[in-house]
Amino acid sequence: MRKNIVAGNWKMNTTLNEGVGLAKDVNEALKNVDAKCDVVICVPFTHLYPVAQVIDPAKLGLGAENCADHTKGAYTGEVSASMVVSTGATYVILGHSERRQYYGETAEILKQKVNLALENNLTPIFCIGEVLEQRENGTYLDVVKAQIEDALFDLSAEDFSKLVLAYEPVWAIGTGKTATDDQAQEMHAFIRKVIEDKYGKEVAENTSILYGGSCKPSNAKALFAKPDVDGGLIGGASLDAESFMGIVTAF
Ligand code: PEP
Repeated sequence: MRKNIVAGNWKMNTTLNEGVGLAKDVNEALKNVDAKCDVVICVPFTHLYPVAQVIDPAKLGLGAENCADHTKGAYTGEVSASMVVSTGATYVILGHSERRQYYGETAEILKQKVNLALENNLTPIFCIGEVLEQRENGTYLDVVKAQIEDALFDLSAEDFSKLVLAYEPVWAIGTGKTATDDQAQEMHAFIRKVIEDKYGKEVAENTSILYGGSCKPSNAKALFAKPDVDGGLIGGASLDAESFMGIVTAF
């Protein structure tokens, strides 16, 4: 059975002290709720190890927001998958639209990153999603299908089963404009069918597909109630423990 997951993406926010404080607050809050989903926070590289020291890994997963497309060596400023693992993290966000858009991440680069993450036993949270123009001109399903095929369909069924997918319509990220629960369901069901056609029903049914894009406590319940929405990747609302917990408890 696929898991329900709520994962925070802190992006380039919080100083180290602020980040450790926020992680402690989320960790504390989780002690008082019977969460019906796995909860993960994906934090800046600098925060990974210190945050790992203050959270209970049985209740709160930890992830990076990116990793390098090379194993090691002369790549100044990069952080490898094995370095991420060495901090105690077990997840990594890959293919976020901000990385595709601002840092030129292509399907080829993302293939390398996914392979390295998997080799290092990190669970990739792999992001896909269309821009507004593609939503409006009706090509959004084809766009997302191509993103999945181009970066992920060289994987074996066994490796594909280790992924978490996150559908994040780019027009909904950080804009306050959420996809409706019906728009999310349409896309999530479509993604599951794309997976089924390639890897079969069992793999498709077992893949967690998260929704991301201006998800907040007020809309999480309706989104998560949809049969193919298995949780959320949360940006802005994950920077406040109370609002993040409001989404966690929407299940
Ligand atoms: C994200 O960047 O992954 C995201 C979903 O951001 P926000 O929730 O702020 O729209």
